Amino acid sequence: MTEKVIIIGAGLGGLALARGLKTSNIPFTIYESDVKNCELTDYRISVNSIGGHALKELLSQDLFDIFQLTSAIPLNRFLVVDGQLNTLLESKMERRMDVPPEGCDRAMSRLLLRQLLLEGLEDDIHFDRTYDHHVEDEDGLITVHLTDGTTDRCLMLVGADGIISSVRKQILPHARLYDTKMIVISGRCRDGASVGTLHDDSVAHLHGPNGSGGVIYNARYTPMEEILRQLDDTQRSKFSGDPQSLLPRCRSMMIDGRYWNLWFTSEKLPEKFVRLEGSEMLPIAIDVTKQTGYSTSIIDMIEDSDPHSVFSTPEWSCVPMDPWEPTAATLLGDAVHATSRFEANTTLRDAVVLCEAIRDVWDDATSPSTSPSDRKRTIRTAVGLYERQMREYAYPLVIASRSDNGMSSVQRSPTASWLTDLMFRASLKLFNLILPVRNLSSWMDHTAGTQREKRE
Ligand SMILES: Cc1cc2nc3c(=O)[nH]c(=O)nc-3n(C[C@H](O)[C@H](O)[C@H](O)COP(=O)(O)OP(=O)(O)OC[C@H]3O[C@@H](n4cnc5c(N)ncnc54)[C@H](O)[C@@H]3O)c2cc1C
Repeated sequence: MTEKVIIIGAGLGGLALARGLKTSNIPFTIYESDVKNCELTDYRISVNSIGGHALKELLSQDLFDIFQLTSAIPLNRFLVVDGQLNTLLESKMERRMDVPPEGCDRAMSRLLLRQLLLEGLEDDIHFDRTYDHHVEDEDGLITVHLTDGTTDRCLMLVGADGIISSVRKQILPHARLYDTKMIVISGRCRDGASVGTLHDDSVAHLHGPNGSGGVIYNARYTPMEEILRQLDDTQRSKFSGDPQSLLPRCRSMMIDGRYWNLWFTSEKLPEKFVRLEGSEMLPIAIDVTKQTGYSTSIIDMIEDSDPHSVFSTPEWSCVPMDPWEPTAATLLGDAVHATSRFEANTTLRDAVVLCEAIRDVWDDATSPSTSPSDRKRTIRTAVGLYERQMREYAYPLVIASRSDNGMSSVQRSPTASWLTDLMFRASLKLFNLILPVRNLSSWMDHTAGTQREKRE
């Protein structure tokens, strides 16, 4: 069948789009280069109200309930601290009772979120199949060539193949990636480990020395027995009926513990650091944390980490581009707007916006009375509409992410860096003293709500 959408990549974006298409009865096929479930590294994703609203739209109510129950128990306190754990800013994060579940910020295992999106789509995904290139044919269809020599045809192609996107190389060959020259090292130490004066119920943003920084937080999950108690009989048998069903699979992704991400300029780390095993990275991470001047409590926390949980990621971002002519092939997620601030929420939003654009034209585009040239035009119009909206909400985030992480300090002179650092600390302290920001969570919910209203 050629009247379908082909999605390249079964990451968060590709799966989210597939869920939307499935609900709209639009046929699709996903090609994913990974072998099924071979991912080893996991990390927490902060799902904000943008991501929450997208998931509410894409997941069935049953799966949305599971999403709420399997996300980490919300933390109560937001801190900004320096490398010696001195508090620069502190705020409570109380939940507002008038915010619906999809409007709340949540921390979630990325692998677990992927499992939720994957549920029921297993038969639509071809694992271990890698996109190579595509050709737009005269009849308005696209022929997709895979690296194993096979081909498939479709009305629309979506590259959801992540930051090193092969589809982007073909659609936008002049697109560039920006290397922030920062590397994020992540890990998890045992549950209950204390880190200096940091409270167990806090998420602490580290404003470290020399442009370094990080985030430290405790993740605690609702025990599986309690989750099962909160489900009704039908949900229990659907999601935990046998060892292969969703909840038993999720159990290993809900690990209580103290999680940390620390970022350093790449010049502080050996070349090819990101390719090392966790056990090889750990002693280097300890060394660089010591040399950078972090407190002994932070160094102890890293020493206490499980080597298997340690991994690193270089921070790259896409360079925003001038609008381009739409074709029947488009991009979604990190393939088009990767930011150094990490934006899974925007990826989920893409899936909703693109799905709506496709749904609006699908019947016309696939009607037997539509000529090939009209079909091509209809699909291009839908793609153009999605791409215009996506550039409007995603590119400002890409640009903002460049100025609010360490990369700018990498490029400044030492004096300018010192001055900026001083001003940043002073303004946070002042903010902490004089402004009654006692509930950051309400303020963030309010801000996100206002942004949503503007969009609507
Ligand atoms: C350490 C870390 C922490 C993060 N934390 C957060 C956070 O707190 N909040 C947040 O919002 N975001 C966070 N992110 C970012 C978030 O994970 C990404 O923005 C999101 O996963 C992007 O989804 P995607 O589907 O576009 O790409 P990916 O999830 O990268 O999926 C791409 C998929 O395409 C497949 N693929 C690639 N090439 C091919 C090919 N040629 N053929 C077939 N398949 C292919 C890949 O195997 C992969 O499965 C974090 C990322 C990292 C690395």
